[in-house]
Amino acid sequence: MPEVAKIEGRPTQAIVDLQVIDQNVRYWQSILTPGTMLMAVVKADGYGHGSVPVAQTAVKAGAQWLGVALAEEGLALRAAGIIQPILVLGQSVGRQIDWAIAHQLALTIFEEAKLEEVAAAAQRQGTKARVHVKVDTGMGRVGLQPEQLNDQWLDRLQNSWIEFEGLFTHFATSDDPDPSYLQYQLQRFLDVVEFFRSHDARPPIVHAANSAAALRFPGTHFDMVRIGAGIYSVEPTAQNHPQLQPSLRLQSQIVFLKKVPAGFGVGYGHTYDTLEPCYLATVPIGYADGYPRILSNRGAVLIRGKRYPVVGRVSMDQIVVQIPLTDPVQTGDSVTLIGRDGNEEILVTELADKAGTIGDEIVTGIAPRVPKSYLPVR
Ligand SMILES: *Cc1c(COP(=O)(O)O)cnc(C)c1O
Repeated sequence: MPEVAKIEGRPTQAIVDLQVIDQNVRYWQSILTPGTMLMAVVKADGYGHGSVPVAQTAVKAGAQWLGVALAEEGLALRAAGIIQPILVLGQSVGRQIDWAIAHQLALTIFEEAKLEEVAAAAQRQGTKARVHVKVDTGMGRVGLQPEQLNDQWLDRLQNSWIEFEGLFTHFATSDDPDPSYLQYQLQRFLDVVEFFRSHDARPPIVHAANSAAALRFPGTHFDMVRIGAGIYSVEPTAQNHPQLQPSLRLQSQIVFLKKVPAGFGVGYGHTYDTLEPCYLATVPIGYADGYPRILSNRGAVLIRGKRYPVVGRVSMDQIVVQIPLTDPVQTGDSVTLIGRDGNEEILVTELADKAGTIGDEIVTGIAPRVPKSYLPVR
C-alpha cells in the first residue's frame, strides 16, 4: 500500500486499498477446494471498510455470493446496483422479511413459524422467497437444533413459495488451536446434511466455514465458504498465509507540536507527567473516532517511520504523542495509527491486543465521521 495517501479536509482518514482486497479474494479462491464458491461477508459496512466498494471489488475478483447481517445491509448493496446473490445471515423480522423478498435477498430460517411467515410474505408479493436453513450444531446462538429436524420440516420446505437454496451452520471455535469442538460440530452438521440427502432434499448450497475454519480445515468447505475477516485480513488467521495482506490504513497528522519541560502533565486526569524535556504532538483522533480510550498511556503511533507512545488519556477527539527532542518532527507530519510507515507497522491486532479485544471490533468501531478513501484496483 502506498504509505501516505493524499489528504484533503480532515487529516484523520481511513484508507482502504481495494487492490489488496482483490488480491486477498483471489488468494482465497486459489486455496479453496475446487468447486467451492466464495461468499464475501460485508456485514457491518464491510467490517468498517465500506460495504459497497468492498463488495464490488470482491465480486469482480470472483466472489459468487455476498453475506450481510441485516436486510438493510443487503438493500444498500442492491441500491448500489449489485445484482449478485446476497444472504442475510441473521434473523429477520417484520418488514425486513418483505424487503428481503422484494430485493431477492436470501433469508436465514431456523423456525417453522418463521418459514410459514416468509412463505406467506412471498405469496403476497407473488414471488418465491430464497431460504437458507441454519442449524445450530453447537454455536448456541441462533439455529435449529438438529434434534428438531423431522418430516414436518421437510414438508414445510416444499412450500411452492419457498426456494430451499441453502443449509448451513457456524463454528464456535474455529480459531481455537484445539480442533476437537469444531470436529464435533462438523460431525453433527454432516449428520444433518445426510438427513436431507437421504430424504432427497439436500439443497444446492451447503456451507459451514468462516475464515478461520476455511483456512485450517478444508473438510469444512462444502459448496461455499463465508469469508469476512479473511478478505480484509484483520485477524492473525493469516499467520501462515503471507499472501493475505491488511487492506486498511488509519492515518492522521500532527496538528500541533510543542516543546515542554520535565514534569508537564498531559490530558484529562493528568494521568501522565513527562519525565524529561520533550515534544508533545497533538493528533486529531479520539475515542469518538473509534480509537479506543483504553489505549490511554498504552497506544503507539508511527511518525517518519518511528514508533512513539500515546501519553495521557485518549480523549473524545484527540490524542497526545510524546517525541524525544532529538527527533526531527514537524506539524503536518503524517501519523499512522494502523498500517505501515517505513520498516515499522501497526497491525489491527496490535491495537486489539492492547485494548483487550479482537481486530473485528476495532475496524467495525471506526466512526462514520472518519472519512474513508479508496485506492483503486491497479
Ligand atoms: C460474520 C460471519 C461470518 C464471517 O466470519 P469471519 O470470521 O469474519 O470470516 C461467517 N458466517 C457467519 C454466520 C457470520 O455471521
